[in-house]
Amino acid sequence: VNADTGAPTIFDKIIAKEIPASVVYEDQKVLAFRDINPQAPVHVLVIPKSRDGLTELGKAEQRHEDILGHLLYAAKIVAEKEGIVDGFRVVINSGPSACQSVYHLHLHVLGGRQLKWPAG
Ligand code: 5GP
Repeated sequence: VNADTGAPTIFDKIIAKEIPASVVYEDQKVLAFRDINPQAPVHVLVIPKSRDGLTELGKAEQRHEDILGHLLYAAKIVAEKEGIVDGFRVVINSGPSACQSVYHLHLHVLGGRQLKWPAG
C-alpha cells in the first residue's frame, strides 16, 4: 500500500489522457471510468479532476464540500447511465486500514449483481 505522500498518482495520467481509460461520464469537475480490476459487472471510479489536497476522504476540509457533493451526484448519474435499475453501492476507502491503494479521492460505484452486506 502506498503511503499518502501527496505525490502524483496513476489517476493524474488518466485525467491527462496519457494512459487510456474507459470513460463513462465526464464533466468540468469529475471524471468517471471503469475500474481496471472490476469487482462487479459495473465497477466505475468517480474522481475529482483536481485533487486539491483530497488524497483521501479523511483529509477532506470544509472547502471540499461542493466537490464532495458533486462526486456523489455524479455516482448517481453513472449508475443511471450504466442502466442499473435495482440498486448499486458507493464505496470510499480512506487510508491504509481501509485498503486504499490510490491516493487521489475516488468513489467506487458497484452494481449489476446482487451485492452482499457488509462485505462483497
Ligand atoms: P482503492 O483500493 O484505492 O480504493 O481503489 C483503487 C482502484 O483503482 C482499484 O479498484 C484498482 O483496480 C483501480 N485502478 C488502479 N490502477 C488503475 C488504472 O490504471 N486504471 C483503472 N481504470 N483503474 C485502476
